Amino acid sequence: MNDIQKKLYDAACEVQKRAHAPYSGAHIGAAVLMSNGAIYTGCNVENASYGGTVCAERVALWKAVSEGAPKQVKEVMVISDADKPWPPCGFCRQVIAEFGSEDTMIYTANLQGKMKTFKFGDIFPEAFTPKHLD
Ligand code: ZN
Repeated sequence: MNDIQKKLYDAACEVQKRAHAPYSGAHIGAAVLMSNGAIYTGCNVENASYGGTVCAERVALWKAVSEGAPKQVKEVMVISDADKPWPPCGFCRQVIAEFGSEDTMIYTANLQGKMKTFKFGDIFPEAFTPKHLD
């Protein structure tokens, strides 16, 4: 891991402890690096009405937007307590597409530091983006 990845990883591990996951038991943390260098974090927040559940990645991005960060995400770190790092779900990929680019870097890791790296354009090609609405 480089310095930025380590910063994102540590931030995601810290927020992962706050996950509200009484139904799935899966504790997820995410940290996003925005274009101004600011990092925002989120954990999954589940709901007894399952459809109300929100993933860690979306919480982090929504926090970034609501707190005034530039709406451009450069890197996303997602950590889970599973052995095999969990990638962002399809719903989160669509939200990343709103604020990212094909070059946004996606890192998935577990608590033991095992990490996989993807370029967003490779895991979500031909995304529907705001450009389609111009
Ligand atoms: Zn998700």
